[in-house]
Amino acid sequence: MINKLKNFLGGKNLAMDLGTANTLLFVPGVGIVVNEPSVVAVDTFTNVVIAVGTEAKTYMGRAPDRIKVIRPIRDGVIADYEATRQMVTLFVSKAVHKLSLLRPLLTICVPMGITQVEKRAVRESGLQGGARDVKLIVEPLAAAIGAGLPVKEPIGSMVLDIGGGTAEVAVISLSNIAFSESVRTAGDALNESIQRYFQENFQLLIGENMAEEVKIEIGSAIPLAEPLSREVYGKSMLNGSPTKVLATDENIRLAMVEPLNRIVDTMKNALEKTSPELVADIHDNGLLLVGGGALLKGLDVLLSRETNICVHVDEDPLTTVVRGTGKVLDKKAGFGDVFLPE
Ligand code: ADP
Ligand code: MG
Repeated sequence: MINKLKNFLGGKNLAMDLGTANTLLFVPGVGIVVNEPSVVAVDTFTNVVIAVGTEAKTYMGRAPDRIKVIRPIRDGVIADYEATRQMVTLFVSKAVHKLSLLRPLLTICVPMGITQVEKRAVRESGLQGGARDVKLIVEPLAAAIGAGLPVKEPIGSMVLDIGGGTAEVAVISLSNIAFSESVRTAGDALNESIQRYFQENFQLLIGENMAEEVKIEIGSAIPLAEPLSREVYGKSMLNGSPTKVLATDENIRLAMVEPLNRIVDTMKNALEKTSPELVADIHDNGLLLVGGGALLKGLDVLLSRETNICVHVDEDPLTTVVRGTGKVLDKKAGFGDVFLPE
């Protein structure tokens, strides 16, 4: 009761990172309150959502035809409005109930290229989940703020966010985006390349989740000091029977060469298109690497070797964006001018 009153008077606020792979909710002073895959399972006969988040992800590749398992945000854009709306509403109301928040102010970070229609859809789902008002901020700014970069200064900062659907590179100065580019090559593309590699080299069909597990466990962008290996389970393309093969880190590295090169090229291209003054700043201060893809072993070394720029992986790259989104809610921090216009 006292808590409820306090929330009502003081007003706890909510920050949301609506990612292609994961959705996170964060409450300043409390921490991460929701961290689940951006997945929705829908019964196509009744059009009713039967599961979201972690539960829905376990349905992937296992659901009967009647149940469609969707990742409603693809390539950084909302591919399925209705499913996104239901997912956001559910996650927000989950956080609201968990902490007995009373109509919090919700800040959501969104991809750079978001359209007016998408903005409206995201806003409305936040309101339906119980928010009093919804403000939006673009992802690269949220990432830079989350990592404590000097975004308000006339100093160039470069951020590379490798998520599920997209890798987004941005140069920030004076609380604005000086340059940004997004490519549809990120974590999902790495998983798909791994799946293809096992088909072509071992005649083995493996699921999306298996490919991701293997990437996280033994994948690396450069040769490792200590070689890694593990068993990979799938289905033989020759006779359909369950089969396993022993894969090494080298297998996985070979599988990922192409998409990793595309990510390196994206960063090189961004440097080419940035003014010499800003490039000099970036050279002095380095690149900030965030998003789940930043956790790929040796990726920082590969990027740094290819571009001659020092690369820093944020301390917890899966949560940088949502923590930054939470920081802008603090009036005293002075980030009032970073929100997107309605
Ligand atoms: P988004 O913002 O698009 O939701 P995230 O920043 O949450 O994406 O990152 C999700 C991606 O990060 C997934 O493709 C996942 O496989 C990948 N990922 C997570 N942990 C690791 C890891 N340790 N090594 C490599 N990739 C990882
Ligand atoms: Mg993200």
